[in-house]
Amino acid sequence: MGSVLHTVAIVGLGLIGSSIARGARTYGLADRVVAVDRDEAVLERVRALGIADRATADLAEGVAKADLVILCVPVGAIGMAAAELAPHLKPGAILSDVGSVKGSVVAAATPHLKPENPFVPAHPVAGTEYSGPDSGFATMFQNRWCILTPPEGTDETAVATVTAFWEGLGAIVETMTPEHHDLVLAITSHVPHLIAYNIVGTAADLETVTQSEVIKFSAGGFRDFTRIAASDPTMWRDVFLTNKDAVLEMLGRFNEDLAALTKAIRWGDGDALFELFTRTRAIRKGIVAMGQETAEPDFGRARPDPKAN
Ligand code: NAP
Repeated sequence: MGSVLHTVAIVGLGLIGSSIARGARTYGLADRVVAVDRDEAVLERVRALGIADRATADLAEGVAKADLVILCVPVGAIGMAAAELAPHLKPGAILSDVGSVKGSVVAAATPHLKPENPFVPAHPVAGTEYSGPDSGFATMFQNRWCILTPPEGTDETAVATVTAFWEGLGAIVETMTPEHHDLVLAITSHVPHLIAYNIVGTAADLETVTQSEVIKFSAGGFRDFTRIAASDPTMWRDVFLTNKDAVLEMLGRFNEDLAALTKAIRWGDGDALFELFTRTRAIRKGIVAMGQETAEPDFGRARPDPKAN
């Protein structure tokens, strides 16, 4: 691991921000962790949980002494936060973020930064469906990918510092362009979330099947979609508004494949169905083999007692 930073400032102490704060302390990645959030209730929780050395609503003061500032607010708020804090960064301080979309973040934040403050955008491919400072945990990024998308010509020492920080949190770091990131994540994360939101919405609107039946028999597959569809509405609204082109491109492909599947079912083409289901099973095996998911049946869930309330 690289050298320990003196001060890391985290802006936005939600699921991801609070996990970084916890991890920075647990793994000794910074002498001092400063938490900045606009919400006094969030700051109160950060103080009570003891996950930062200082918690403040004052963005200018919170980032002034930081060597590394990480924006952990929704994608749509990153540009405005960068504009607000940029004049207060010390020379050489690095700005980073954790936004789930990279092209729009780079475009929104870069114009506000002085040349002496390198921007190293990051996206940890980790998380849960929960929000807020209580939901974070130090081990969130262990053995998870973190994608860096530094603009061409970004100071190499700054990229190395951010890489070492994420490796210190346990992540495996990969670098790519913002455009490629947005295309890859559109199919691996954004479209799957849209499908989950859609299927749960469709079930909720059904008139011929009751809500209680949907809930009662959810273990048939629906339940796994509901976990994803419980994700933060602000975060996901921003993802779809800012990664529009890549999502629309992947949705186009998805709709074509769905039409082919519909046709296979209509015409009783069992071979086509069997061939696809065999290929998809191999993908799942690959994900388990890479340590990105447990091989336990039923996603490793403990079975709740159906008689319990
Ligand atoms: P979260 O738990 O909802 O936390 C977001 C934090 O940002 C909250 O403290 C929130 O404060 C603050 N915030 C919201 N709007 C703001 C604004 N306009 N200006 C300043 N602060 C604002 O969300 P999260 O899941 O940690 O997500 C944070 C970032 O991580 C997002 O960019 C998301 O794309 C990225 N990300 C998320 C995941 C995931 O699985 N959740 C995974 C990887 C990356 P309030 O309480 O006042 O709203």
